[in-house]
Amino acid sequence: MNILLVEDEPKVADFIRKGLKEQLYNVEVAYDGLFGEKLALENEYDLVILDLILPGISGLELCRQIRRYKADLPILMLTALGSTKDKVTGLEAGADDYLVKPFHFEELLARVKALSRRRLLVFPSIVHKVADLEVDGYKRIARRSGKEISLTAKEFSLLELLIVNKNRVLSRTYIAETVWGINYDRGTNLIDVYINYLRAKIDKGFSHSLIHTVIGMGYVLKEET
Ligand code: CA
Repeated sequence: MNILLVEDEPKVADFIRKGLKEQLYNVEVAYDGLFGEKLALENEYDLVILDLILPGISGLELCRQIRRYKADLPILMLTALGSTKDKVTGLEAGADDYLVKPFHFEELLARVKALSRRRLLVFPSIVHKVADLEVDGYKRIARRSGKEISLTAKEFSLLELLIVNKNRVLSRTYIAETVWGINYDRGTNLIDVYINYLRAKIDKGFSHSLIHTVIGMGYVLKEET
Protein backbone atom coordinates (compact mmCIF):
# COMPACT_ATOMS: atom_id res chain seq x y z
CA MET A 1 0.00 0.00 0.00
CA ASN A 2 1.34 3.41 -0.98
CA ILE A 3 0.89 6.28 1.43
CA LEU A 4 1.58 9.96 0.88
CA LEU A 5 2.50 11.85 4.03
CA VAL A 6 2.36 15.64 3.93
CA GLU A 7 3.94 16.98 7.12
CA ASP A 8 6.30 19.93 7.55
CA GLU A 9 7.79 18.97 10.92
CA PRO A 10 10.72 16.68 10.07
CA LYS A 11 10.64 14.90 13.43
CA VAL A 12 6.96 14.09 13.20
CA ALA A 13 7.30 13.10 9.55
CA ASP A 14 10.21 10.82 10.40
CA PHE A 15 8.38 9.21 13.30
CA ILE A 16 5.36 8.41 11.12
CA ARG A 17 7.37 7.31 8.08
CA LYS A 18 9.58 4.93 10.07
CA GLY A 19 6.64 3.42 11.94
CA LEU A 20 4.66 2.81 8.76
CA LYS A 21 7.69 1.40 6.94
CA GLU A 22 8.09 -1.14 9.74
CA GLN A 23 4.52 -2.19 8.97
CA LEU A 24 5.63 -2.64 5.33
CA TYR A 25 3.80 0.36 3.91
CA ASN A 26 5.47 2.43 1.21
CA VAL A 27 5.61 6.02 2.37
CA GLU A 28 6.50 9.14 0.42
CA VAL A 29 6.93 12.39 2.34
CA ALA A 30 6.24 15.95 1.20
CA TYR A 31 7.37 18.68 3.61
CA ASP A 32 5.14 21.42 2.23
CA GLY A 33 1.64 21.79 0.84
CA LEU A 34 2.59 22.56 -2.74
CA PHE A 35 4.89 19.59 -3.16
CA GLY A 36 2.25 17.49 -1.42
CA GLU A 37 -0.32 18.64 -3.95
CA LYS A 38 1.98 17.83 -6.86
CA LEU A 39 2.64 14.32 -5.58
CA ALA A 40 -1.01 13.67 -4.66
CA LEU A 41 -2.29 14.62 -8.09
CA GLU A 42 0.49 13.05 -10.16
CA ASN A 43 0.94 9.71 -8.43
CA GLU A 44 -1.28 6.86 -7.34
CA TYR A 45 -1.67 6.49 -3.58
CA ASP A 46 -3.95 4.40 -1.43
CA LEU A 47 -4.04 6.92 1.40
CA VAL A 48 -2.96 10.47 2.18
CA ILE A 49 -1.96 11.57 5.68
CA LEU A 50 -2.18 15.31 5.79
CA ASP A 51 -1.06 17.84 8.39
CA LEU A 52 -3.49 20.74 8.81
CA ILE A 53 -0.97 23.58 9.11
CA LEU A 54 1.58 23.53 6.31
CA PRO A 55 3.77 25.99 4.46
CA GLY A 56 2.76 26.61 0.85
CA ILE A 57 -0.90 25.73 0.87
CA SER A 58 -2.74 24.64 4.02
CA GLY A 59 -3.84 21.11 4.73
CA LEU A 60 -7.47 22.17 4.31
CA GLU A 61 -6.87 23.67 0.88
CA LEU A 62 -4.83 20.66 -0.16
CA CYS A 63 -7.60 18.38 1.08
CA ARG A 64 -10.14 20.24 -1.08
CA GLN A 65 -7.80 20.04 -4.09
CA ILE A 66 -7.36 16.30 -3.72
CA ARG A 67 -11.13 15.81 -3.35
CA ARG A 68 -11.73 17.76 -6.53
CA TYR A 69 -9.66 15.32 -8.58
CA LYS A 70 -9.62 12.12 -6.54
CA ALA A 71 -12.95 11.69 -4.83
CA ASP A 72 -12.21 8.20 -3.58
CA LEU A 73 -8.72 8.67 -2.15
CA PRO A 74 -8.86 8.28 1.66
CA ILE A 75 -7.48 11.26 3.59
CA LEU A 76 -6.44 11.24 7.22
CA MET A 77 -5.96 14.71 8.69
CA LEU A 78 -3.45 15.45 11.45
CA THR A 79 -3.50 18.52 13.62
CA ALA A 80 -2.35 19.95 16.89
CA LEU A 81 -5.68 21.75 17.14
CA GLY A 82 -8.26 19.59 18.79
CA SER A 83 -11.41 21.68 18.90
CA THR A 84 -14.67 20.41 17.48
CA LYS A 85 -14.74 23.32 15.04
CA ASP A 86 -11.41 22.33 13.47
CA LYS A 87 -12.54 18.77 13.25
CA VAL A 88 -15.74 19.77 11.47
CA THR A 89 -13.81 22.03 9.08
CA GLY A 90 -11.43 19.20 8.25
CA LEU A 91 -14.23 16.75 7.59
CA GLU A 92 -16.15 19.31 5.52
CA ALA A 93 -13.06 19.84 3.39
CA GLY A 94 -13.26 16.16 2.55
CA ALA A 95 -11.06 14.38 5.08
CA ASP A 96 -12.24 10.87 5.98
CA ASP A 97 -10.81 10.86 9.46
CA TYR A 98 -9.01 13.05 11.92
CA LEU A 99 -6.23 12.56 14.46
CA VAL A 100 -5.14 15.07 17.07
CA LYS A 101 -1.43 15.53 17.88
CA PRO A 102 0.28 14.31 19.92
CA PHE A 103 -0.83 10.75 19.28
CA HIS A 104 0.57 7.28 19.87
CA PHE A 105 1.75 5.53 16.75
CA GLU A 106 -0.74 2.70 17.42
CA GLU A 107 -3.60 5.20 17.13
CA LEU A 108 -2.35 6.35 13.76
CA LEU A 109 -1.87 2.77 12.61
CA ALA A 110 -5.41 1.86 13.66
CA ARG A 111 -6.80 4.76 11.59
CA VAL A 112 -4.65 3.86 8.59
CA LYS A 113 -5.88 0.28 8.72
CA ALA A 114 -9.49 1.31 9.16
CA LEU A 115 -9.28 3.64 6.15
CA SER A 116 -7.64 1.04 3.94
CA ARG A 117 -10.30 -1.50 4.93
CA ARG A 118 -13.03 1.01 4.16
CA ARG A 119 -11.50 1.56 0.75
CA LEU A 120 -11.81 -2.14 0.06
CA LEU A 121 -15.44 -2.06 1.14
CA VAL A 122 -16.39 1.09 -0.78
CA PHE A 123 -14.78 0.13 -4.07
CA PRO A 124 -15.32 -3.59 -4.33
CA SER A 125 -16.28 -3.74 -8.00
CA ILE A 126 -12.76 -3.53 -9.36
CA VAL A 127 -11.50 -6.78 -10.81
CA HIS A 128 -7.94 -7.34 -9.61
CA LYS A 129 -5.56 -9.30 -11.81
CA VAL A 130 -2.19 -10.93 -11.41
CA ALA A 131 -1.04 -13.05 -14.35
CA ASP A 132 -4.02 -15.29 -15.22
CA LEU A 133 -5.63 -14.89 -11.79
CA GLU A 134 -8.68 -12.62 -11.54
CA VAL A 135 -10.48 -11.62 -8.36
CA ASP A 136 -13.78 -9.75 -8.41
CA GLY A 137 -14.40 -8.37 -4.94
CA TYR A 138 -17.98 -7.37 -5.71
CA LYS A 139 -19.20 -10.64 -7.15
CA ARG A 140 -16.87 -12.55 -4.79
CA ILE A 141 -15.53 -14.60 -7.67
CA ALA A 142 -11.97 -15.78 -8.25
CA ARG A 143 -10.79 -17.30 -11.51
CA ARG A 144 -7.53 -18.70 -12.71
CA SER A 145 -7.05 -19.23 -16.45
CA GLY A 146 -10.74 -18.43 -16.82
CA LYS A 147 -11.81 -21.27 -14.51
CA GLU A 148 -13.80 -20.34 -11.42
CA ILE A 149 -12.27 -21.34 -8.10
CA SER A 150 -14.48 -22.21 -5.16
CA LEU A 151 -13.30 -20.49 -1.96
CA THR A 152 -14.64 -20.16 1.57
CA ALA A 153 -15.38 -16.64 2.87
CA LYS A 154 -12.08 -16.42 4.79
CA GLU A 155 -10.07 -17.82 1.91
CA PHE A 156 -11.63 -15.23 -0.36
CA SER A 157 -10.87 -12.38 2.06
CA LEU A 158 -7.28 -13.55 2.33
CA LEU A 159 -6.90 -13.80 -1.43
CA GLU A 160 -8.50 -10.39 -1.88
CA LEU A 161 -6.10 -8.84 0.61
CA LEU A 162 -3.13 -10.42 -1.17
CA ILE A 163 -4.21 -9.35 -4.63
CA VAL A 164 -5.14 -5.79 -3.64
CA ASN A 165 -1.61 -5.58 -2.22
CA LYS A 166 0.01 -7.51 -5.08
CA ASN A 167 3.84 -7.42 -5.13
CA ARG A 168 3.84 -6.21 -1.54
CA VAL A 169 4.98 -8.52 1.26
CA LEU A 170 2.30 -8.76 3.95
CA SER A 171 3.29 -9.73 7.47
CA ARG A 172 1.33 -12.40 9.36
CA THR A 173 0.45 -9.69 11.89
CA TYR A 174 -1.10 -7.53 9.19
CA ILE A 175 -2.98 -10.44 7.63
CA ALA A 176 -4.34 -11.57 11.02
CA GLU A 177 -5.57 -8.08 11.87
CA THR A 178 -7.08 -7.34 8.48
CA VAL A 179 -8.71 -10.66 7.61
CA TRP A 180 -9.56 -12.00 11.06
CA GLY A 181 -9.58 -8.80 13.11
CA ILE A 182 -7.35 -10.42 15.71
CA ASN A 183 -3.91 -9.74 17.09
CA TYR A 184 -1.41 -12.17 15.64
CA ASP A 185 -0.19 -14.64 18.19
CA ARG A 186 3.19 -16.11 17.31
CA GLY A 187 2.09 -19.45 18.69
CA THR A 188 -0.61 -19.92 16.08
CA ASN A 189 -0.17 -21.20 12.55
CA LEU A 190 -3.63 -20.04 11.44
CA ILE A 191 -2.28 -17.83 8.69
CA ASP A 192 0.05 -20.50 7.32
CA VAL A 193 -2.77 -23.03 7.33
CA TYR A 194 -5.01 -20.71 5.31
CA ILE A 195 -2.20 -19.82 2.94
CA ASN A 196 -1.82 -23.55 2.29
CA TYR A 197 -5.57 -23.88 1.62
CA LEU A 198 -5.30 -21.04 -0.87
CA ARG A 199 -2.23 -22.50 -2.53
CA ALA A 200 -4.01 -25.79 -3.00
CA LYS A 201 -6.80 -23.97 -4.83
CA ILE A 202 -4.94 -21.18 -6.62
CA ASP A 203 -1.53 -22.55 -7.48
CA LYS A 204 -1.78 -26.34 -7.48
CA GLY A 205 -1.64 -27.73 -10.97
CA PHE A 206 -0.28 -24.54 -12.53
CA SER A 207 3.31 -24.22 -13.71
CA HIS A 208 3.71 -20.75 -12.16
CA SER A 209 2.94 -20.21 -8.48
CA LEU A 210 1.56 -16.81 -7.50
CA ILE A 211 1.61 -17.06 -3.70
CA HIS A 212 5.15 -16.80 -2.35
CA THR A 213 6.61 -17.13 1.13
CA VAL A 214 9.16 -14.51 2.13
CA ILE A 215 11.11 -16.08 4.95
CA GLY A 216 11.03 -14.04 8.14
CA MET A 217 8.63 -11.52 6.57
CA GLY A 218 5.35 -13.00 5.43
CA TYR A 219 3.59 -13.64 2.14
CA VAL A 220 3.32 -11.96 -1.23
CA LEU A 221 1.14 -12.52 -4.26
CA LYS A 222 3.06 -11.81 -7.43
CA GLU A 223 3.93 -13.03 -10.86
CA GLU A 224 7.44 -14.40 -10.83
CA THR A 225 9.50 -12.67 -13.52
CA1 CA B 1 2.47 21.59 10.53
